[in-house]
Amino acid sequence: MTMDVSNLTVTKAVESLSENAVRSVDLVQALIGRIRERDPVLGAYVDLNEADALEQAAVADTRRAQGGAGRLLGVPLAIKDVLNVRGQSCRCGSRILEGYVSPYDATVVARLRAEGAVLLGRTNMDEFAMGSSTENSALKVTRNPANTAHVPGGSSGGSAAAVAGGIALASLGSDTGGSIRQPAAFCGCVGLKPTYGRVSRYGLVAFASSLDQVGPLTRNVRDAALLLGIIAGRDPADATTADVPVPDYAAGFTDSLKGVRLGLPREYFVDGMDPDVEGRVREAVAVCRGLGAEIVPVSLPHTEYAIATYYIIATAEASANLARYDGVRYGFRADGAEDSLDLYVRTRAQGFGPEVKRRIILGTYVLSSGYYDAYYLSAQKVRTLIRGDFDAAFQQCDAILAPVTPTPAYRFGERTGDPLSMYLSDIFTATINLAGICALSVPCGLTGGGLPVGLQVIGPAFGESAILRVGHAYERSRDGKAGA
Ligand code: GLN
Repeated sequence: MTMDVSNLTVTKAVESLSENAVRSVDLVQALIGRIRERDPVLGAYVDLNEADALEQAAVADTRRAQGGAGRLLGVPLAIKDVLNVRGQSCRCGSRILEGYVSPYDATVVARLRAEGAVLLGRTNMDEFAMGSSTENSALKVTRNPANTAHVPGGSSGGSAAAVAGGIALASLGSDTGGSIRQPAAFCGCVGLKPTYGRVSRYGLVAFASSLDQVGPLTRNVRDAALLLGIIAGRDPADATTADVPVPDYAAGFTDSLKGVRLGLPREYFVDGMDPDVEGRVREAVAVCRGLGAEIVPVSLPHTEYAIATYYIIATAEASANLARYDGVRYGFRADGAEDSLDLYVRTRAQGFGPEVKRRIILGTYVLSSGYYDAYYLSAQKVRTLIRGDFDAAFQQCDAILAPVTPTPAYRFGERTGDPLSMYLSDIFTATINLAGICALSVPCGLTGGGLPVGLQVIGPAFGESAILRVGHAYERSRDGKAGA
């Protein structure tokens, strides 16, 4: 049987599979057909493991026929190229990992596998997750499905383009300063950055270890809740995972927001913002008020220091994390080296792209003696103040509503010549990683030019249930209005 997969959610796929209305093999085949048609334009996948995926699907179908269970039994998923999937390549959008094959599954991948998910392929990204447009990938160009002249956002641009473009049901991405939420907003899908410590980072290639989290990109909020429930929880292989019980994240879903207090931060509605973005977000706030929420003004006074703080901490950690790519242990090795130092230098000079090099240099500088106190230590102190801003705001509200980005998706090449303008656009997302809390990006309409806009729902640490509930209620009322 053939089926239309371009609007299929994970929840609906699970339902159809469990009712035997479709087999996993058919689903995977239909998806591969769609990918062949559409991906030459979108460029979302860097690797498609067709034969392997069909084999996994056949195994899932057999397991089901024998009475086997699994919350994702037979559901195909796409994984950002920053997570290790046993037996598959993992290049992180970089030349330096050419030829590397993952010897093990990341914990999140193992948890999806244990529930019967089919791992179909991996998606494009900015090199080592450094960027906001996927233009820093050394592998290929990814286009925004809403308008292919525009970037998909980044760094999880391949994941977002695949989900919004109808060639993946859902995907896992990673978010260090906005890399799940921003591409979700640019392409028009849902993206969730969980609380630091909620999801294991074991097997996630490290960018900035105190900021990185894995999370889902999906077609609706219910799917995000489902996937988070599977990947979250304590992992002995990642000491930073918290021993906090994993609830059923969709259990509290209702259509009403009565009794919910939603904060509106003054500092997140600023001059110079795109008027359409501000307009759509304010309309979404009005919808939430209409659903019964109380809207309260809040203040996050240290927001103006967030970008400087983020780019000091993230580059410092990156410079240490990326020291391991030396041509000896992983992937690419440069030819013609005379001794080991020469091998490191040649491999890194040829293997890393310009943005990664810029960050290694910046990070090395802020950690060097004489500058450590002035930059790195100060940034750590400001980070604490930013966290304090959120603690104070959450005394007054249950969740915070904000834009995800100051502008919609821009055109290719528009910001590549000016890295600072690219960095500044992370202003509403990087704060959340610095504070270690959680946030959701939900589509909230289009600009006049037809580009998607994202509403950000920010929650306190381990407040995923609350933000998912708000996102779900909002999404339902919006879908209802659209007649869906
Ligand atoms: N755009 C941000 C950066 O370039 C965030 C990237 C991310 O979250 N991985 O660092």
